[in-house]
This record gives sequence, C-alpha cells and structure tokens, in this order.
Amino acid sequence: ARAFQAAGLDASKLTVTKTSTPKELTAPQDLVFGKTFTGGDFASIVHRIVVLTRLTDHMLSVEWTATDGWHAPRIIPYQNLSLDPSTCVFHYAFECFEGMKAYKDKNGGIRLFRPDKNMQRLNKSSSRIALPTVDGEALTKLIGDFVKTDSRFIPDARGYSLYLRPTMIGTQKTLGVGPPGSALLFVIASPVGPYYPTGFKAISLEATDYAVRAWPGGVGDKKLGANYAPCILPQLEAASRGFQQNLWLFGEEEYVTEVGTMNLFIALKNKETGQKELITAPLDGTILEGVTRDSVLSLARERLVPKGWAVSERKIRMSDVAEAAEEGRMIEVFGAGTAAIVSPVRNISYSGKLVDCGLKENEEAGEIALQMKNWIEGIQYGDEEHAWSYVI
Ligand code: PMP
Repeated sequence: ARAFQAAGLDASKLTVTKTSTPKELTAPQDLVFGKTFTGGDFASIVHRIVVLTRLTDHMLSVEWTATDGWHAPRIIPYQNLSLDPSTCVFHYAFECFEGMKAYKDKNGGIRLFRPDKNMQRLNKSSSRIALPTVDGEALTKLIGDFVKTDSRFIPDARGYSLYLRPTMIGTQKTLGVGPPGSALLFVIASPVGPYYPTGFKAISLEATDYAVRAWPGGVGDKKLGANYAPCILPQLEAASRGFQQNLWLFGEEEYVTEVGTMNLFIALKNKETGQKELITAPLDGTILEGVTRDSVLSLARERLVPKGWAVSERKIRMSDVAEAAEEGRMIEVFGAGTAAIVSPVRNISYSGKLVDCGLKENEEAGEIALQMKNWIEGIQYGDEEHAWSYVI
C-alpha cells in the first residue's frame, strides 16, 4: 500500500542552490516552434525536438524512499543524473511525466494553466506503475518556486512560454521485477515560442490501420514514457508519405481516438438531427485525458451550446467521418494539446482516399479552432481572469 500514499511532500523544506554558470538566453526568434516546420519530413520533426532541448539553469529535484517517503525538495543547478546501470527505470520503464506551461502576463506576473489537472494526471500515472503519488498542491507550489527561479527564460511576448516537464522515475538498483523502493521526481524547463508564428498552418493526418496505440484495460490514458516510444515509427511512416501526424484508430469499427500528442475534435452536422455537433472520443481508458481537451469541452458547453451546438464525448467511426465529408456535413477538425492549443486539420488519409476536413483552399483554420485558441490563450496569459489561471 505504501506506493499509493501521498507520502508527505513538504514544500516548506525547499532549499535552493543557484548555478554559478548561468546560460545565455536564446533569442526569442530562435525559440519559434514551427519556424522550419514545412512538412512532415524527418528534418522538420528533428528540428522541433531540437527546440525543446534548450533548457533553463535549474531543476527541481525530490527523492523518495519507501522508508522515509518524500525527502526535502531541492532546486539545484541543471545537471546530469548519475544512475547505476541496474536502475529499474532503464529495464522496466518505471517512468511517467507531465507536460504543462508557464506564461508571462502583461503585468509581468507568471501563470500556470490548470496545474491541478496535471497533478491529478501525474498521480494517476505514477500509481499505475507502482511509483509514489505526491501532494499536488505542494508540487504546484514547488513548480511555482522553480519557475520563478528561472523566470528570466520566459520571453514576455504573446505565444511564448516555459514548457515544464515534471518527471518521475523508479531509481531502485535491481534487475528484479517489483515495486521500486526508491524514486526521483524532477522538473526541468524549456523556453518555447509560438507553434504557429505566422498564423495557423493546417496539418494533414494519416489514419493508422496497422498498429494500435492503446486498448481497453491498458494504460493509454496514463502519461507513461512507455506509451510514447512505440508511437514514433508509425509517426515516421506517416511523415515519409507527407503527413504531419498519424491518427490512431481503434478496433474493427475503426473508432477515431487521438493524434500523436493531441486529442481530436470533429465538428460536423449530425446526420439524423442536422444539428452542429462538436465531437471528441470519450474517456474510456484508451485516450489521454488531455487538459486542453477538457478545456475545449467546458468552453464549448459554456459558449457554443447556447448558440445551438451539441457537444458530445462519444465514439465515432472513421467511416462516419468520411461519410460526413462526402455528404457535405463536415465543418472542421482540429487537434487539441498543450503544445499548440489547437491544430487545424486539412485532411485525413484513410483507406486510400483523402478525407477533406472542411477548410476552404486558402483557409488554415476553422472558426471553432480559432475561437478556442483565442479563448484559451486569453485565459493562459491572464487577459481574461479565470479560475483556470494560477498565478504563482
Ligand atoms: N494525447 C496524448 C497522447 C498526449 O501526449 C497529449 C499531450 N499531453 C495530449 C493528448 C494532450 O494533452 P494536454 O492537453 O494535457 O496537453
């Protein structure tokens, strides 16, 4: 039972050791995500990864042992880890992580976006792989302290932010397969620029029919590193045919699930009722419970339903999506995730055909995607005061 307890992370015990070799800041224009992202080619994919390898001066580090629970948290200079080759993370993938961002508002204040959601998800992930849970409020406070320590890395311009990567690994030295008796929680940070610096660029997806990402009763709804490595090959396959991302389908019914590192939203006119409907896959254990997904759903229920929209968390077959396109009922499709907020989709390659997702030829985003980006960004940057914005 010990692994499933929040074992006393105490934010007040934080110690801070500052680096003696502060890094030079990267020029904001070099932080731009999509700068050379011209297509799904290998170089572009590698470029995006390179951007996220610029890290800040410090890291947050907290050790955990089964005997003592969480140790005193430390902010220390960014540094290598030193781990014995037998450490369980290397052999049995005791690793989970989170992805979130810190934003500078117009008054210079720093904000997180719905950090409670990331903390909940981290605890779901860690407990599933027999790693300890943490007190989410204490960790959020510590992340705030860490972000303040490295706040000079956040350019104070719209679209820029500090990407935060909370990570937990099992550190027990053993080749035996069992619950780790020790763990390390660390948080590192990477400044990032706008995903679409020159405006939206709609992407093309390839529906993957030869591999599955997740299955009922599996762990696809947890943010485990082990869920990600097997996804790169299908992603490269799709890229080699000119598609930026692959779309994961599930089962004989070919239900639409999610895309790369985004949840998927489909806006169409309902076949039976003719009503405009915004659809995303339900949380049935096979898709990641995206914070952006949840935010899009809430905002849609609050702001689109009064305008006549239906909002549905339901299963939808890829063939039904294709049918909606053929019958002229398609409105728009977009991905939703922390990196880009929303990512409009132009078309989906499926069954040897290109399913048109409703954008006009000279259009890069639909109305709903645009609205969602503006609404969510407005909250993230504190232009709209909202309970989702957490000032540190
Ligand atoms: N699905 C997967 C598989 C992801 O990795 C992510 C990114 N965390 C998402 C969806 C989107 O989640 P979020 O909105 O919390 O970034």
